[in-house]
This record gives sequence, structure tokens and C-alpha cells, in this order.
Amino acid sequence: RSPAKRYEKGKGRVTFDDVAGMGSAKRELTEMVGELKNPGKFTRIGAAVPKGALLVGPPGTGKTLLAKAVAGEANVPFFAISGSEFIQMFVGVGASRVRDMFRTAKEHSPCVIFIDEIDAVGRMRGAGYGGGSDEREQTLNQILSEMDGFQPTETVIVMAATNRPDVLDAALLRPGRFDRHITVDRPTWKGRLEILKVHTRNKPLSDLVDLERVARGMVGMSGAELKNLCNEAALLAVRSGRNKIEQVDFDRAADRVRLGSQREEPFSH
Ligand code: ATP
Repeated sequence: RSPAKRYEKGKGRVTFDDVAGMGSAKRELTEMVGELKNPGKFTRIGAAVPKGALLVGPPGTGKTLLAKAVAGEANVPFFAISGSEFIQMFVGVGASRVRDMFRTAKEHSPCVIFIDEIDAVGRMRGAGYGGGSDEREQTLNQILSEMDGFQPTETVIVMAATNRPDVLDAALLRPGRFDRHITVDRPTWKGRLEILKVHTRNKPLSDLVDLERVARGMVGMSGAELKNLCNEAALLAVRSGRNKIEQVDFDRAADRVRLGSQREEPFSH
């Protein structure tokens, strides 16, 4: 069984154009893209390119999408794993999974590794119930030692995502590890408008649809919810026997998306 979800070069490629808004996050990641495209470009002149970036923000705000787009911009492979996969594994299994993933990544250098929900393994050691689990600590230690163990010829950028940076073990945040933090917040109305434009790109909209009005109305929605909104609106249009999406479809879809997210996230604030 392969150690991580893997996306080959070129296939299902996502680029910065698919990520709406997030201008400053993209700017912060351009050096990493440059180094992946042309390994040694920065290091040759003695500039240290950060090899780890922590994407911090609430669920559904596009952290995974952004990490994928870094790989896609440089057209290099992307390897993804989630911290939650390590929960309840037998001792040693998580660490060997991590080792396998880094080994495969090194063989495919230059490339990107993405660890979603890093807080599931990266919580402060010794701070959990009953002193924390051995399994989790071993997995975390393996991640730390892998990040320290790259050869200069290996260009592997490691990105991780969390919505709980406050619980992370300080060792993860040291220089040379996840020392660059990029905030990925819920979008403003302008961000929402950009996201709506991306997700209606291939959908027929009636000339009467005012996307700006839709964007202004969807206060608090994440990118993932806006994507759902566009899909729901399209479904409603089809169900009404129309071949174009009308404003009313967005209004009705908004109620569904809001109800849906309440059901999925009963404890969200
Ligand atoms: P989680 O923390 O729940 O894993 P996430 O922050 O990684 O969430 P993604 O999985 O990247 O969020 O986002 C889910 C989907 O929402 C994306 O695949 C994309 O279609 C859409 N989306 C989110 N943000 C944006 C954005 N800024 N531009 C375009 N699409 C977006």
C-alpha cells in the first residue's frame, strides 16, 4: 500500500490561478516555487530558502489547495498525508509510514510533501492525557528527524496545515523546520467574489446574476462552502428545468449550505 496519497506530475494539476485571492500567501510561497522549479537557484547564491511552511487557518479555507498549487506551479509531484491517519495506529507504524513517505519524496526530488492536520501528531510532547501517547511521539520525532535529514541535493518542500498552531510542539517551529507561517483566513467579501468566479468558471450563469451581491451576502463562508454553494445553485437550476443559474438559485442554495455546515460542524464557533 502506498505510503501517501500521491499526485503525479501534470495529472490533476492545480495552479495559483485555481486559488482565488490569497495574494500575500502566494507571494510568500513564490521563492519555494522558484526553488522547486530550478533547484539550487537560491541556495547557489547562499540564500536559505525555507523548506517548511505552516499553513494556519480554519477548515475549508483552501490550505490543501494552496499546497497543491505550489507543487502544480512548479509542475513537481505532490505527496499528501493527514495527521489524523496516525491516530490509533500501533506503535511504530506511524513512524515507518513517515519514513516511507520521505524516502519516496527524496527519490522524486524536487517535490512537495503536505501533512494535513499536523496538530493530530504535533501536539506538545508529554502534555496529553497520561503524558501523551508513545505512538504519537514516535511519529512526531520521525517527522522532526526527517526534516533535519535532507541532503543539499534534495529539494523537498514540506508544508503542513493546522487550525491549532497554539498546541504545536515547539520543536516543530524551530528554524529549518516549520519556521514560516502563512495565515489562511476566511475570505473577505472580495475574496468570496474571487472564489465564486473560480467556481462558476464552467457554469452557465444568467446575465441577471450579480455575483458581487452573492459574495457580499455570504458573510463568514469559507472557500469550501462557497464551492458547495456554486454546485448547489447549479443543481437547483437543473431541477427547475433551466439551463442557466439564476440569482434565486444562489439564494436558495445558501440556505442549504448553511444548514449543511451546521450539521457537519456542531461544535464550530
Ligand atoms: P481542511 O482544513 O478542512 O482540510 P483546507 O483549508 O485544506 O480545509 P481545502 O481542502 O483546500 O481546504 O478546500 C476545500 C475546497 O474548497 C477546495 O478544493 C476548493 O475547491 C475550495 N476552495 C477553498 N478555498 C478556495 C480558494 N481560495 N479559491 C478557490 N477554491 C477554494
